Amino acid sequence: ATANPHKLEEVKDICGDCGIEFILPDKGFNPVENGSTFEENSLIKAKEAYRVSKTYCLADDSGLCVNALNGAPGLYSARYAGSQNEKIEKLLFELNNKSDRSAKFVCCMTLLDQNGKIIFQTIGECHGSIVEERKGVNGFGYDPIFLVDGYSETMAELSFEEKNKISHRANALKNVLNYLQKRHE
Ligand code: IMP
Repeated sequence: ATANPHKLEEVKDICGDCGIEFILPDKGFNPVENGSTFEENSLIKAKEAYRVSKTYCLADDSGLCVNALNGAPGLYSARYAGSQNEKIEKLLFELNNKSDRSAKFVCCMTLLDQNGKIIFQTIGECHGSIVEERKGVNGFGYDPIFLVDGYSETMAELSFEEKNKISHRANALKNVLNYLQKRHE
Protein backbone atom coordinates (compact mmCIF):
# COMPACT_ATOMS: atom_id res chain seq x y z
CA ALA A 1 0.00 0.00 0.00
CA THR A 2 2.31 2.70 -1.25
CA ALA A 3 2.89 5.12 -4.08
CA ASN A 4 6.62 5.22 -3.29
CA PRO A 5 8.53 3.04 -5.79
CA HIS A 6 11.62 3.00 -3.52
CA LYS A 7 9.62 1.27 -0.79
CA LEU A 8 8.35 -1.36 -3.21
CA GLU A 9 11.86 -2.10 -4.50
CA GLU A 10 13.22 -2.36 -0.96
CA VAL A 11 10.38 -4.63 0.17
CA LYS A 12 10.95 -6.93 -2.83
CA ASP A 13 14.67 -7.12 -2.11
CA ILE A 14 14.18 -7.71 1.65
CA CYS A 15 11.66 -10.45 0.91
CA GLY A 16 14.05 -12.12 -1.57
CA ASP A 17 12.69 -15.47 -2.72
CA CYS A 18 10.10 -15.74 0.08
CA GLY A 19 7.45 -16.67 -2.50
CA ILE A 20 5.28 -13.56 -2.12
CA GLU A 21 4.56 -11.37 -5.12
CA PHE A 22 4.25 -7.69 -4.21
CA ILE A 23 2.20 -5.43 -6.48
CA LEU A 24 1.15 -1.80 -6.12
CA PRO A 25 -2.50 -0.97 -5.32
CA ASP A 26 -5.01 -0.68 -8.12
CA LYS A 27 -5.92 2.73 -9.58
CA GLY A 28 -7.59 5.18 -7.21
CA PHE A 29 -5.31 4.51 -4.20
CA ASN A 30 -5.40 7.82 -2.34
CA PRO A 31 -4.99 7.44 1.44
CA VAL A 32 -5.78 10.39 3.69
CA GLU A 33 -3.00 10.16 6.26
CA ASN A 34 -4.68 11.99 9.11
CA GLY A 35 -3.76 9.56 11.89
CA SER A 36 -1.77 10.67 14.91
CA THR A 37 0.62 7.70 15.06
CA PHE A 38 2.60 5.57 12.60
CA GLU A 39 0.25 2.71 13.51
CA GLU A 40 -2.87 4.69 12.61
CA ASN A 41 -1.48 5.96 9.30
CA SER A 42 -0.24 2.51 8.39
CA LEU A 43 -3.72 1.09 8.99
CA ILE A 44 -5.31 3.93 6.96
CA LYS A 45 -3.04 3.07 4.00
CA ALA A 46 -3.70 -0.65 4.30
CA LYS A 47 -7.47 -0.12 4.36
CA GLU A 48 -7.34 2.25 1.39
CA ALA A 49 -5.29 -0.29 -0.58
CA TYR A 50 -7.85 -2.96 0.33
CA ARG A 51 -10.70 -0.69 -0.82
CA VAL A 52 -9.23 -0.53 -4.34
CA SER A 53 -7.53 -3.94 -4.58
CA LYS A 54 -9.59 -6.41 -2.47
CA THR A 55 -6.66 -8.69 -1.69
CA TYR A 56 -4.02 -9.10 1.06
CA CYS A 57 -2.60 -5.63 1.71
CA LEU A 58 0.69 -4.67 3.35
CA ALA A 59 1.18 -1.02 4.31
CA ASP A 60 4.30 0.83 5.43
CA ASP A 61 4.18 4.12 7.29
CA SER A 62 7.61 5.37 8.15
CA GLY A 63 9.60 8.38 9.19
CA LEU A 64 12.65 9.82 10.88
CA CYS A 65 12.45 10.73 14.60
CA VAL A 66 15.14 13.03 15.98
CA ASN A 67 15.58 13.08 19.76
CA ALA A 68 16.73 16.70 20.10
CA LEU A 69 13.62 17.77 18.15
CA ASN A 70 11.25 15.79 20.38
CA GLY A 71 10.74 13.15 17.72
CA ALA A 72 10.25 15.50 14.74
CA PRO A 73 9.86 15.26 11.80
CA GLY A 74 8.41 11.83 12.75
CA LEU A 75 4.94 11.33 11.36
CA TYR A 76 5.43 14.44 9.23
CA SER A 77 8.68 13.31 7.59
CA ALA A 78 7.18 13.39 4.09
CA ARG A 79 5.59 16.82 4.69
CA TYR A 80 8.38 18.52 6.70
CA ALA A 81 9.23 21.01 3.92
CA GLY A 82 8.90 21.30 0.11
CA SER A 83 11.46 19.25 -1.80
CA GLN A 84 13.56 16.49 -0.23
CA ASN A 85 16.50 18.89 -0.46
CA GLU A 86 14.58 21.47 1.53
CA LYS A 87 13.54 18.89 4.12
CA ILE A 88 17.18 17.95 4.69
CA GLU A 89 18.25 21.62 4.82
CA LYS A 90 15.55 22.36 7.39
CA LEU A 91 16.53 19.41 9.56
CA LEU A 92 20.24 20.33 9.47
CA PHE A 93 19.33 23.93 10.33
CA GLU A 94 17.16 22.86 13.28
CA LEU A 95 20.01 20.69 14.57
CA ASN A 96 22.63 23.39 14.21
CA ASN A 97 24.69 23.55 17.44
CA LYS A 98 22.74 20.70 19.04
CA SER A 99 25.09 18.21 20.70
CA ASP A 100 22.57 15.35 20.75
CA ARG A 101 22.16 14.26 17.11
CA SER A 102 20.74 10.82 17.87
CA ALA A 103 17.77 9.71 15.77
CA LYS A 104 15.91 6.67 14.56
CA PHE A 105 14.03 5.59 11.47
CA VAL A 106 10.70 3.97 12.33
CA CYS A 107 8.53 1.80 10.09
CA CYS A 108 5.10 0.50 11.00
CA MET A 109 3.76 -2.28 8.79
CA THR A 110 0.15 -3.41 8.80
CA LEU A 111 -1.12 -6.54 7.09
CA LEU A 112 -4.75 -7.09 6.10
CA ASP A 113 -6.04 -10.45 4.91
CA GLN A 114 -8.11 -11.17 1.81
CA ASN A 115 -11.24 -10.06 3.70
CA GLY A 116 -9.73 -6.72 4.72
CA LYS A 117 -9.29 -7.82 8.33
CA ILE A 118 -6.18 -6.64 10.18
CA ILE A 119 -4.09 -9.71 10.98
CA PHE A 120 -0.70 -8.28 11.92
CA GLN A 121 0.91 -4.97 12.82
CA THR A 122 4.53 -4.41 13.75
CA ILE A 123 7.18 -1.72 14.21
CA GLY A 124 10.74 -1.87 12.92
CA GLU A 125 13.40 0.63 13.97
CA CYS A 126 16.89 1.57 12.86
CA HIS A 127 18.96 3.66 15.28
CA GLY A 128 21.63 6.16 14.36
CA SER A 129 22.44 9.85 14.23
CA ILE A 130 22.23 12.85 11.94
CA VAL A 131 25.51 13.89 10.29
CA GLU A 132 26.38 17.54 9.64
CA GLU A 133 26.61 17.30 5.85
CA ARG A 134 24.83 15.04 3.43
CA LYS A 135 26.80 12.15 1.98
CA GLY A 136 25.99 9.46 -0.59
CA VAL A 137 23.53 9.13 -3.43
CA ASN A 138 21.81 5.79 -2.79
CA GLY A 139 18.42 5.23 -1.21
CA PHE A 140 15.89 8.02 -0.79
CA GLY A 141 14.48 10.56 1.64
CA TYR A 142 16.74 11.36 4.59
CA ASP A 143 19.25 8.57 3.82
CA PRO A 144 22.11 11.01 2.96
CA ILE A 145 22.15 12.50 6.49
CA PHE A 146 21.52 9.34 8.55
CA LEU A 147 24.47 7.47 10.01
CA VAL A 148 23.50 4.02 11.23
CA ASP A 149 24.89 3.12 14.66
CA GLY A 150 28.05 1.06 14.23
CA TYR A 151 28.65 2.21 10.64
CA SER A 152 30.93 4.93 9.30
CA GLU A 153 28.84 5.54 6.19
CA THR A 154 25.47 7.21 5.83
CA MET A 155 22.47 5.17 4.74
CA ALA A 156 22.90 6.72 1.27
CA GLU A 157 26.49 5.46 1.06
CA LEU A 158 25.46 1.89 1.88
CA SER A 159 24.59 -0.35 -1.05
CA PHE A 160 20.94 -1.20 -1.72
CA GLU A 161 21.56 -4.70 -0.33
CA GLU A 162 23.34 -3.43 2.80
CA LYS A 163 20.54 -0.98 3.62
CA ASN A 164 17.99 -3.72 3.17
CA LYS A 165 19.68 -5.91 5.78
CA ILE A 166 19.57 -3.35 8.59
CA SER A 167 16.87 -0.78 7.86
CA HIS A 168 13.70 -0.08 9.83
CA ARG A 169 11.77 -1.45 6.83
CA ALA A 170 13.83 -4.66 6.89
CA ASN A 171 13.25 -5.09 10.63
CA ALA A 172 9.49 -4.60 10.28
CA LEU A 173 9.22 -6.86 7.24
CA LYS A 174 11.19 -9.64 8.96
CA ASN A 175 8.51 -9.62 11.69
CA VAL A 176 5.76 -9.84 9.04
CA LEU A 177 7.50 -12.73 7.28
CA ASN A 178 8.02 -14.57 10.59
CA TYR A 179 4.34 -14.12 11.37
CA LEU A 180 3.31 -15.50 7.96
CA GLN A 181 5.70 -18.41 8.28
CA LYS A 182 4.23 -19.38 11.68
CA ARG A 183 0.67 -18.94 10.41
CA HIS A 184 1.29 -21.43 7.63
CA GLU A 185 3.19 -24.02 9.68
P1 IMP B 1 5.36 7.89 4.23
O1 IMP B 1 5.47 7.56 2.77
O2 IMP B 1 4.13 8.66 4.56
O3 IMP B 1 5.53 6.67 5.07
O4 IMP B 1 6.54 8.90 4.52
C1 IMP B 1 7.75 8.42 4.80
C2 IMP B 1 8.77 9.55 4.74
O5 IMP B 1 9.74 9.27 5.74
C3 IMP B 1 9.48 9.53 3.40
O6 IMP B 1 8.95 10.47 2.52
C4 IMP B 1 10.90 9.88 3.80
O7 IMP B 1 11.04 11.28 3.88
C5 IMP B 1 11.03 9.30 5.19
N1 IMP B 1 11.56 7.92 5.11
C6 IMP B 1 10.89 6.76 5.35
N2 IMP B 1 11.68 5.70 5.16
C7 IMP B 1 12.86 6.19 4.77
C8 IMP B 1 14.08 5.56 4.39
O8 IMP B 1 14.22 4.34 4.33
N3 IMP B 1 15.07 6.40 4.09
C9 IMP B 1 14.97 7.76 4.13
N4 IMP B 1 13.85 8.39 4.43
C10 IMP B 1 12.79 7.61 4.76
